[in-house]
Amino acid sequence: MTAEALVHSVLDSLAVRSDFPALQQTVRGGKRLVYLDNAATSQKPRAVIDAVQKFYERDNGSVHRGVYELSERATAVYEGARKKIARFLNAKDAREIVLLRGTSEAINLVAYTYGRKNVRAGDEILITEMEHHSNIVPWQMLCEATGAVLKVAPITDAGEVDLQAFEKLLSAKTKIVSAVYVSNSLGTVNPIAQMSALAHAAGAVMIVDGAQAAPHFLVDVQAIGADFFAFSPHKMYGPSGIGALYGRYELLDAMPPFLGGGHMISNVTFAKTTYAKPPAKFEAGTPNMEGAAGLAAAIDYVQALGIDAIDAHEQLLLKYATDALAKVAGLRIIGTAARKVGVVSFVLDGVHPHDVGSILDRHGVCVRAGHHCTQPVMERFKVPATTRASFGVYNTMEDVDALVEGLAAVRKVFS
Ligand code: PMP
Repeated sequence: MTAEALVHSVLDSLAVRSDFPALQQTVRGGKRLVYLDNAATSQKPRAVIDAVQKFYERDNGSVHRGVYELSERATAVYEGARKKIARFLNAKDAREIVLLRGTSEAINLVAYTYGRKNVRAGDEILITEMEHHSNIVPWQMLCEATGAVLKVAPITDAGEVDLQAFEKLLSAKTKIVSAVYVSNSLGTVNPIAQMSALAHAAGAVMIVDGAQAAPHFLVDVQAIGADFFAFSPHKMYGPSGIGALYGRYELLDAMPPFLGGGHMISNVTFAKTTYAKPPAKFEAGTPNMEGAAGLAAAIDYVQALGIDAIDAHEQLLLKYATDALAKVAGLRIIGTAARKVGVVSFVLDGVHPHDVGSILDRHGVCVRAGHHCTQPVMERFKVPATTRASFGVYNTMEDVDALVEGLAAVRKVFS
C-alpha cells in the first residue's frame, strides 16, 4: 500500500475536510487554504457551529437558576457537556470537571487556590524546560507570593525531558509538579504517567497541561495519575472561550475558591459567606453556555471519527512531513523526540521564521512563526524562533506537499 493510500485507510481526510466550512474558501487571490496551525487553534466543523447556533436559537436561558423550560434546557446542555468531558477524560465523577475558559485559566486557578493554600516559603515547584508560558508564569507568581522556589527539569537535544535529572530534582520539598503532556513547540509526548508516579513518590501533586494531548490521542486522567488536568477544546475543533480543569474531588473540595460571585456560594450574609461544593465553587458568574453546547458537539465529532484513527492519521502525516522536510536543503527540525504528535518545528538557514511564514502565506499555507509561547525552548535550542506546521484531522499529504513547495519559493526569494 502506498503511504497516500495508507493515510486514506485510517481517516478519509478529504471527506473530513468537507465538514469544515472555513476550509472551503480560497485565500490570497485564489489559493487553496492549507491550514497547518492546529496547535494554536483548530478550525470548527459544521456540527460544532450548528450546536452553538442551535443553542442560541432554541435553548438560551438562565443556566442553573430558572423555573422555565428554556432555563432547564440551558442547564441540561451545560451539565450535559460536563458529563461528556468527564467520560471523555475518564474522570471518576462529573463533579471533578470545572468549566472555565481553557488551559491558562485552569493552571492559574490551581496555582492561586491549591498553591496559596498548600505552598510555603522554601517549598519547591518542579516544571520542565519545555513548558508553555501558561505553565511557567502562574508558578512564578505563586513563588513570588509565597517565597517558594521554582525548579526546572532540563530537556535533551532531541527535546525530551531528561528523566534522570527530573527525578534528581524531586525531594520532600517538592509540593507541586506541573508538566506538559505534549509540547506545543516540539511535539514531544512526555512519559507523563511515569513522571506522575515519580512526583507522587516524592509526595507532590501532579498537574498536567493537557492542551495539546486531548485533540490527538486518548487521554485517561486516572491512568496517567493526574491530580489536575487542563484542557482547551478550541484546539480540538471546539469553540474558544470554554475549557475545563479536571481535579480529584478531594483536592477540589479542600481548595478555597478562585473568583467570588453568583453561583459559587452556599449562603451569603454581610457577616459571612459560605461556599458551594465543587465544581460550582469555582464557577462564579454566568458561564459560556453556548460554548458548552459546541464543546459537547466537538467531543461527539472526534469520537465519531475515532480518536485512534485520528492518532494514526496524524502519525502518518508526521512521518510524511518529517521525511519531506528532511530533504529541504538547510532545514533543521527542532524537536526530534521518539514519541511526537503531528507538530513539526523547523528553522531554515539564513531566513528568519517570520519571513518563512509570510512567504508561505502568499501560497495559502498557514503556519505559525515565533516562539510559540515557549521562549525557554527557543533559548535551549539557541534559535530566536521557529516555523511550526501542526496537523489536524482535515490535513492531507497534499497539504504537506504545499508546505514543501512553499519552502522552495522561500529559498528562491532568499537565494
Ligand atoms: N499549554 C500548551 C501546551 C498550549 O499549547 C497552550 C495553547 N497554545 C496553552 C497551554 C494555553 O492554552 P489556552 O490559550 O487555550 O489557555
